[in-house]
Amino acid sequence: MTSPAAVTRPDFDPAAARLDFPILQQQVNGQPLVYLDNAATTQKPEAVIEAISHYYRHDNANVHRGAHTLSDRATVAFENARATVARFLNSPAPSQVIWVRGATEAINLVAHSWGRSTLRAGDRILVSYLEHHSNIVPWQLIAAATGAEVVPIPITAGGDIDLAALSSLLDERVKLVAVNHVSNALGTINPVAEITRMAHAVGALVMVDGAQATAHMPVDVQAIDCDFYAFSGHKLFGPTGIGVLWGRESLLDAMPPFLGGGEMIETVSFSGSTWNSLPFKFEAGTPNIAGAIGLAAAIDYLAGLDIDAAARHELALLEQTIAMAGEVEDLRRIGNPARSVGIFSFVIDGIHPSDLGMLLDQQGIAVRTGHHCTQPLMAHYQLPGTVRASYALYNTAEDVERLFAGIHKAKRLFG
Ligand code: PLP
Repeated sequence: MTSPAAVTRPDFDPAAARLDFPILQQQVNGQPLVYLDNAATTQKPEAVIEAISHYYRHDNANVHRGAHTLSDRATVAFENARATVARFLNSPAPSQVIWVRGATEAINLVAHSWGRSTLRAGDRILVSYLEHHSNIVPWQLIAAATGAEVVPIPITAGGDIDLAALSSLLDERVKLVAVNHVSNALGTINPVAEITRMAHAVGALVMVDGAQATAHMPVDVQAIDCDFYAFSGHKLFGPTGIGVLWGRESLLDAMPPFLGGGEMIETVSFSGSTWNSLPFKFEAGTPNIAGAIGLAAAIDYLAGLDIDAAARHELALLEQTIAMAGEVEDLRRIGNPARSVGIFSFVIDGIHPSDLGMLLDQQGIAVRTGHHCTQPLMAHYQLPGTVRASYALYNTAEDVERLFAGIHKAKRLFG
């Protein structure tokens, strides 16, 4: 067992949570750091850093193949991490949790394995305008290889998936609906259970890109009833280079391997090879063992917090942001979703997003600027990009005040 025990607190205190994240205790450009780029990647609590360090200091060995103590320990920690993720997602079994590098690789795995073996000319894959490039381009690649077609699902002016338009697109040609659980550019929380019900009614499968959801809400793949769910550890206070594809067992069983190599085989001969059982069929090569252990430590860390209270806190930060933005002349919020996490995308007439990002950075405030890997969405709003402030549980009301002090200073400079 390498994950330190979860710290239980009776209620959620963002200032206390902030102290769990060593990186946030620094100054950047002479100012205390205000980190508002959490949709790009989240910071890591001490518990995660310590779990990774502990693994390398005490248990490091290759997994599933050692006849020695360190390998046994590494294997137990690695498989315990899988069980932790299975509980986190409410997966019926740990074997439905496949380790990958991140959400991008998870989606590519489904596209190349399920898509290549299943899709035919004339089939359709529906993908919403809200999607990150990683939930668009793999489908385009597989469509080009199979003759299938990628069809965009329209969104409303506020940035919600247009369910009426989705309904009119759903027919027997649709084999897959690929949507994100939460939009990285606008913060929209999509009704993924309802979308799944609609898609299943015409026999289509559903791939949910959960990259932006897991840090903000409990995820229950059985309640959603989706067929595939993808997320990245680094957006969930865990390390980079590790993520998860969750899949329905019957589908994963029937799918051909994605990558070939060690671990994913049962037998190899020059007359042909046979495949290992789940989840190993999809885990060729030495996995990111420390990454899996670090991700499980992040999940354990979250389990020690009141996650509903943390989500309410993030929404309060968003409401504070909306109120303060209303007082900034020429500031326009992009999107106004019906349900949203703490993500605020905006533009200010007369200030280019990258100039504003640079000026904020000079004041120790980290935001993201640009198209956020959502070029079709930016084209929909006829914008080259936006400025995005994205909150995590360790952000505070003071962070929001610092952001707006920075924006007012930039406006004075450009005004
Ligand atoms: N999907 C969404 C909604 C994202 O925001 C991101 C990253 O920003 C990804 C997928 C890709 O995640 P990764 O780069 O960790 O694979």
